[in-house]
Amino acid sequence: QAKRCGRNTIRFFDPTTHAAMEVRIGLEADLRTALLNNEFSLYYQIQTLDSGYITGAEALLRWHHPEQGLIAPVKFIPLTEEIGLITEIGYWTLETACIQLKAWADNPATAHLQLSVNVSPRQFHQDQFVEKVSAIITNTGIDASKLKLELTESLVLDDMNDTIKKMNRLKKMGVQFSLDDFGTGYSSLSYLTQLPLDQLKIDKSFVHNLTLKNADNVIVQTIIGMAITLGLDVIAEGVETAEQAAFLKANYCYHYQGYLFGKPVPLAEFEAALADMPPIKQD
Ligand code: C2E
Ligand code: MG
Ligand code: MG
Ligand code: MG
Repeated sequence: QAKRCGRNTIRFFDPTTHAAMEVRIGLEADLRTALLNNEFSLYYQIQTLDSGYITGAEALLRWHHPEQGLIAPVKFIPLTEEIGLITEIGYWTLETACIQLKAWADNPATAHLQLSVNVSPRQFHQDQFVEKVSAIITNTGIDASKLKLELTESLVLDDMNDTIKKMNRLKKMGVQFSLDDFGTGYSSLSYLTQLPLDQLKIDKSFVHNLTLKNADNVIVQTIIGMAITLGLDVIAEGVETAEQAAFLKANYCYHYQGYLFGKPVPLAEFEAALADMPPIKQD
């Protein structure tokens, strides 16, 4: 959002602009040293089936600022996109996630876990993206089919040709793809069949309104139906209440991520939750 109304918006006589600018410049300087100073970490949020079976997690980036404490991604990721730092940070994230995947794979109790990793548009459309991902997969020794890259609609539509080519090359290695925040982007759905996707991820804005507004119920039902028709897995993000989960289940969506099941937490807490809730094998 900040990205969209950022550079092209001219505000006159706005007393907040100067202060906001100073905050931004400060953050920008701090961001440039954050990787070197080890200030980033990954949090993990459980993804479960209706049976309680934990299929894996989404890795979510956190910045531990030395003075300001934990800073949420919405406050710094758009800025890292803008100044080009996201590429470097993105590879750090991917490598850290893959090292974790490998550790899980080496333990029979966690070997089934998949890990979803967000990819920024700027990183994805960079020339060497496929080569770099491939090198990380090889160097960490992971089974690429356990890695799920989350792409947004705007990333995909930014350059369809580049997207399809890169997705196909990565698919050959076994990498999975999820379309994140689905439904919030573009109304044209014709592109869906052109992409080698594995999963649609229903945006939390629709899930939140599920039991309140009928209009959103229809949107969610339509997305689930579309996923089923296309042969894709469908997961709902932002599931907070049992009512929402029940609605989703009644409408054939059996895969969930949300506070109802667990918030994003540091690795140690995620692994404690796993141990508490031993995965129940389906079928
Ligand atoms: P996202 O990829 O759509 O991630 C889901 C966001 O929804 C996360 O916010 C998660 O904490 C939040 N969420 C999950 N369940 C619930 C729920 O039940 N209720 C509510 N209210 N929220 C829920 P988070 O961690 O703050 O991340 C925000 C966004 O920042 C992400 O949205 C993603 O677009 C971006 N992001 C996070 N980590 C990375 C990263 O490593 N790389 C890139 N490029 N972007 C990232
Ligand atoms: Mg995501
Ligand atoms: Mg999302
Ligand atoms: Mg979202």
